[in-house]
Formats: sequence, C-alpha cells, structure tokens
Amino acid sequence: ERSKLKRLVTGRSRTLDGEEIELHANIELPQDAESARDVGADGVGLFRTEFLFMNRDELPGEDEQFEAYRSVVKALAGKPVTIRTLDIGADKEARALRDRAGNRAAPNPALGLRAIRFCLAEPQLFLAQLRAILRASHYGKVRLLIPMLAHAVEIEQTLSLIELAKMQLRESRHKFDMLEVGGMIEIPAAALSLGPFLRRLDFLSIGTNDLIQYTLAIDRTDGSVAHLYDPLHPAVLKLISQTIQSAQRVGMPVAVCGEMAGDPKLTKLLLGMGLRQFSMHPTQLLEVKQQVMMSDATQLAVRVARLLKLDEPEKISEQLERL
Ligand code: PEP
Ligand code: MG
Repeated sequence: ERSKLKRLVTGRSRTLDGEEIELHANIELPQDAESARDVGADGVGLFRTEFLFMNRDELPGEDEQFEAYRSVVKALAGKPVTIRTLDIGADKEARALRDRAGNRAAPNPALGLRAIRFCLAEPQLFLAQLRAILRASHYGKVRLLIPMLAHAVEIEQTLSLIELAKMQLRESRHKFDMLEVGGMIEIPAAALSLGPFLRRLDFLSIGTNDLIQYTLAIDRTDGSVAHLYDPLHPAVLKLISQTIQSAQRVGMPVAVCGEMAGDPKLTKLLLGMGLRQFSMHPTQLLEVKQQVMMSDATQLAVRVARLLKLDEPEKISEQLERL
C-alpha cells in the first residue's frame, strides 16, 4: 500500500474527465517544506507563520522571518508559496504576545483580538512581517494570505499597510516582487458577503476549521462539544459551495485549506462543488490525489448539486457514500 502511494507522487493530479486539480501542502515551520516536496505538492497553499512566533520568549524580528520565508520559497524552487500573515490568538498562543494578543484570558478569545484584528492593532509588528514576506518574494513565487477577515475596512487597511511596507522597502533599497494578496474565508460573514473580497483581492482560501467553528458556534478546542463539530452540516456545505461558485463566476482562484481539504472521504464532495485547488497536511496529499484520479468531475457536479439540496444529516451522509 505504501509503495503504491509512492508511485502516486509523480502521477498527474487529474480527474477521469481531464480536470487538472492542484494539490498544495499546509506547513507550519520552514523544515516542513521538505515534506511538501517529498509528496510532489504543487506548492505551499498555507504557511502558518504563527508557528515562528510560538513556543519561545522573544518575537522573531524582520530578518529572522525573512530568512525563514526565503528558505521555504527556495525549497519550493519556483512553485507558489502562500504565506499567511500572523494568525495568533485563541487556539494559537504566543508567550511573547500574551499581554497583547487575544489570549486565553480574554473574555472570549476566539471572538477577540486575534489574527488580522491583532495585526491591524499592532501595525509595527505587522509591517515587519509584511516587509519580511515581500523581501522573500524576490526569490520565487510568493502569495500573501490574510486570515480572519470579515469587514471591508479590514481589507482596505491591510492593502494600505502592504503598500506602506513596499514604500519602506524601496526607501531601504530592498528588493521585492509584486505579489498576489488573498483572503481567508473562515468567518460566515465573509462567506455571506463576498463582494469586497472579490473586488479587492487576488484569490480566496476557505478555512473550514474556523468556518465550521463560527457557523455552528462550536469551540474547535472544546472536547465537550466536539461531537457537534460537523463539517457536513448543511449550513457549512452551503457556505463552502456558494463561496467556490461566487469566486468562479468572476474568475477568481479559490482554494480550501482547512482540514476538510485533506480528508479523502470529502474529496469527491469538494470536486463536485467545483473546487480545483486543495491545500492540506502533506501526509494526506497522496490519498487525496488517489481520490481525484478516480473521480469524474462532470458527474460529481450533478450529484453534489443534488446533495446540496438535502437538509437531513442521514440523507447527506447516505448520498456522500454514493458519490
Ligand atoms: C482554518 O481555519 O480552516 C485554517 C486553515 O486555519 P487554522 O486551522 O490555522 O485556523
Ligand atoms: Mg483559521
């Protein structure tokens, strides 16, 4: 079984009816880039940079971050690397930011000053990261991904800070390339009101882990309600499929980078929703590729459209089995 999976590494990620499906890797630390390469990923679809800030007492400075980002960009040798800006707070704590970021002591950390909210409240820290990412863009294909966006004004403020970071780099004579800027769709409000995202950004990436948490009001870290954390809840499926379809209508690239993208039992469902870009933990990639190669995208589109009309969990699971 393992050697069969190994042969899949070089196999083309294409459906039976000829649709090319991009399979990217999620990474947490620079050394993970190797696992991405080992499984033949098309790129890094999600680099969770907050891990550079966690489990240490001091914050990484601009130069240290630049080195880390560049090492991943170089390891990927021209394949795209999607670097997500600091997504700290709630389930991801950094000691050095404890008194600043939406931490466990906040009244409700998952709803607090986390991720992009925190970065916009700490522009100097955010600018240092943006400069580090921009500088790394000179060494390959870098895409910038912003977590936890909900408001149009957050998009505008972020884009302004990116322009400011570029200006600062020009002044200090650092090289950088133009990069695409994308937003994570992981708050229901964003999925339900995509207009500003589609107009102002270059790509979208759906974070199903948080999208499920916020849609169902289930704390993703709370074991006592884990049985209610359901990726197949019809409301969750609706938000995901509508986001994919709205993006595709205007020709905007859209990926899924939450855990759902790495679950081979859900590959056909996502393909049927129209998804063509998946990003997942490297250990999941070959199994998902195997599913892709056994799928007929045209047929799945019809079947999944039917499944999405259902609102009874038993019927949804039953249809899922038959895809
Ligand atoms: C997500 O929320 O689905 C996601 C990919 O980001 P994270 O798990 O890091 O919050
Ligand atoms: Mg998230």
